[in-house]
Amino acid sequence: MELRNVRRSFGGTEVLRGISLDVPDGSFTSLLGPSGCGKSTTLRIMAGLDRPDSGQVLMNGEEVSDRSATARNIAMVFQSYALYPHLTVAQNMALPLTMRELSRWQRLPLVGGLHGGTRQTRRAIQARVAAMAAMLDLTDLLGRKPGQLSGGQQQRVAVGRALIREPSVFLLDEPLSNLDAKLRTQMRAELSALHTRTGRSFVYVTHDQTEAISMSDQVALMLEGRIAQIGPPRTLYETPQSRAVAAFIGDHP
Ligand code: ADP
Ligand code: MG
Repeated sequence: MELRNVRRSFGGTEVLRGISLDVPDGSFTSLLGPSGCGKSTTLRIMAGLDRPDSGQVLMNGEEVSDRSATARNIAMVFQSYALYPHLTVAQNMALPLTMRELSRWQRLPLVGGLHGGTRQTRRAIQARVAAMAAMLDLTDLLGRKPGQLSGGQQQRVAVGRALIREPSVFLLDEPLSNLDAKLRTQMRAELSALHTRTGRSFVYVTHDQTEAISMSDQVALMLEGRIAQIGPPRTLYETPQSRAVAAFIGDHP
């Protein structure tokens, strides 16, 4: 995935001031920067939830600015997990698959997840949910509702729901910021393992440089709507290219 000179303004203020970014296939790329620098806006443009005023969004060299998140095969997880409270863990994770099956048959969506469809697709969906649950250590929790889960467990369900359709790009917007420090450390390790196991491209937004540096192949440091520096995590530490970069890295130990 690639952004070329992407600009975006809100109410006369230019929030993205020419973002160019290459996310190599299968890489773990972090967008790191202080609150308000434009990280979420960049991610939403990648996802197809917002459009640039100018510039291009490319996937495999093709312009995708007019395509929806689904058409781009992109999944996104937000800071607030937004699980369906009335559905079980299994149904939450199955929903993106059942919605797709159901819309294919031109029927009304059956909220409840694991109903409807042929026995074959139902089995295939259950198998996929079971595999995802095993990968995320959720097998014993499949029958629970979100209200009966811890924050970390809810976050794992949100990740499972996002990954169930095997997106080619997985976008995460500060997914761990609602968790306590111990759980954050654990989830960091889990997300890294998940990245390795799935081989997908991950784009990870955070204002926490420890997170960015510990997980990423490349870190793009964003300051005031621009990418101030991009490279492997070590280079940001060892050779900051400007005083602004050095100040950010130094200020946020
Ligand atoms: P970050 O995720 O780095 O904290 P954002 O991308 O959310 O930053 O926001 C960057 C700036 O753009 C902020 O000043 C924010 O208030 C503004 N902004 C973002 N989205 C909108 C919007 N839909 N309408 C108006 N202003 C917005
Ligand atoms: Mg944000």
